[in-house]
Amino acid sequence: MTSSLNLDQMPPDQLRTFAAQLMSKVDTMDRKIHRDQTIIEQLPHEIAILKRHRLAKRSEQISPEQGNLLDDLFNTDLEAIDAELKALRPAPAPEEKCQQPKRAPLPPQFPRTVIHHKPENTQCTCGCQLQRIGEDISEKLDYTPGVFTVEQHVRGKWACRQCKTLIQAPVAA
Ligand SMILES: [Zn+2]
Repeated sequence: MTSSLNLDQMPPDQLRTFAAQLMSKVDTMDRKIHRDQTIIEQLPHEIAILKRHRLAKRSEQISPEQGNLLDDLFNTDLEAIDAELKALRPAPAPEEKCQQPKRAPLPPQFPRTVIHHKPENTQCTCGCQLQRIGEDISEKLDYTPGVFTVEQHVRGKWACRQCKTLIQAPVAA
């Protein structure tokens, strides 16, 4: 922030515009921090999996097919992190800006355990029954000696047609 800005001498409209700009900036940064935090929190888990993967590969506990799939997965993840770092650099080119780095989906060949999360109560406070209108799916890579599995969390979204209340089971910590 420039120190030459004199807030005392700024007319009220300009102050308001300035404050609005700052607020929008803070909001953008907030969302960015939140997104980065999520990625950062996931990294130790993935690094641990990768270490076990390398160990298992060395002792040949793991099938070459699964090993190759994982190599692909981690390479794609590294590319996503790379893209993320690129996006952090100041003043990116416009076309670079809208390019959202995506996390690689886990290989569909890995066996999945599907866990359904339903809200405790699907009765709306207005008295009517909530309707299931959709779901969010997140996946977590897991490893048991010799085999990689995927824990798939399905969190249903429920909405009330009368009062438009929307509920969803909370994300597990
Ligand atoms: Zn309702």
